[in-house]
Amino acid sequence: MKKIGVVGTQETLALLARALAYFESDYKIEHSVLIDEGCKDTERIYEMITAPDIEFLVIASDQGDYFLYESLIKKEAEAKKREVEIRFLHPYLKYIHHFHLFDCEKLFLRREDYANSIDYLEFHVTDNCNLNCKGCAHFSNLVSGRKHTDFLSWEKDMLRLKELVENIYTIRIMGGEPFLNPELGNFAAKTREIFPQSMIHVVSNGMLLQKADRGVFRAIRENDVTVDISYYPEVDRDKVVEILEAENLRYRISTVSTDEFLKYMNLKGDSDIGRAYADCDFKSCHFLYEGKVSACAFPLLVKYFNEYFDENVEVCCGIDLYSPRLKKGMLRDLLNRPVDACRYCAVEKEPIPWEGHRLNADKSDWCVSQK
Ligand code: SF4
Ligand code: SF4
Repeated sequence: MKKIGVVGTQETLALLARALAYFESDYKIEHSVLIDEGCKDTERIYEMITAPDIEFLVIASDQGDYFLYESLIKKEAEAKKREVEIRFLHPYLKYIHHFHLFDCEKLFLRREDYANSIDYLEFHVTDNCNLNCKGCAHFSNLVSGRKHTDFLSWEKDMLRLKELVENIYTIRIMGGEPFLNPELGNFAAKTREIFPQSMIHVVSNGMLLQKADRGVFRAIRENDVTVDISYYPEVDRDKVVEILEAENLRYRISTVSTDEFLKYMNLKGDSDIGRAYADCDFKSCHFLYEGKVSACAFPLLVKYFNEYFDENVEVCCGIDLYSPRLKKGMLRDLLNRPVDACRYCAVEKEPIPWEGHRLNADKSDWCVSQK
């Protein structure tokens, strides 16, 4: 057994322990330091650094703060004049929790791989959706006319991204409803070609699978793409599973349907940016759209809200991928910080019951009540 030390939260430690057991790994967690309340236990870190038979230390926090803990460990090691090897827990494991989708060889990343990569990116192949849920976080029910992504412009953006990052650990192909775009298979294949190491998923409500072209399924299967089904009350779960199984596709679908969304917009734009960002579930859902990337989809898609309601939610629209100032290795840091648009996101979200086919949208479907 190879012994490792782990600096992580209770949750990530438990996750890693389960993963090691699942993979029947040679690694064993011998020492651990909990960082749920911030990392103050330097005594325990010192113990790990000086333990004689530790292969390496793993940083496994559940936020994008690996470098913070790395510098703390290094400082401690320097003070004690010890050499220490540090690895980072692969971000995909934290995101996916489905061990069967994961290659255990990739569990522990070296610094240089991690620093030049980003954890997650999603993009649309269409802004349209067949389900048009009330309060759709990507504003798909407010989109008028056909708005499919232009393949060549998107490909150019992906190639530019490849110049800027070594890897994107998780890529999700989304919409709207991706199966509305007949070119979905080409998007899947090109994503795999440009980012061969990524875990790629296509996110669908599953309702169009029955009518989908076999060629699209083939491209998904051959390019090692997982289908994530967003299970809404209207979705015939058994039918969807039957199709996915028959097509021999890798998939994820929950057992319970989503019956609630959260309203999250504060139209006054006066939210405390730090608090809104800290409490935000979307802050790691980095988004690519028309030559720009952003921490989340909101700043790049809120234009649909503005157009539909004749509003003026004015936000800086993402990072220009083609800015000459942007260099390889900069995106991780730039994407993991609050953005101007956070002031339009409420700190206290409000639940709304899920409802499909809502074309007569109302601002209150997104905006929390002003107190
Ligand atoms: S299924 Fe609903 S939430 Fe998902 S993209 Fe379509 S409208 Fe939005
Ligand atoms: S704008 Fe900020 S708070 Fe709002 S969804 Fe994006 S990251 Fe979250």
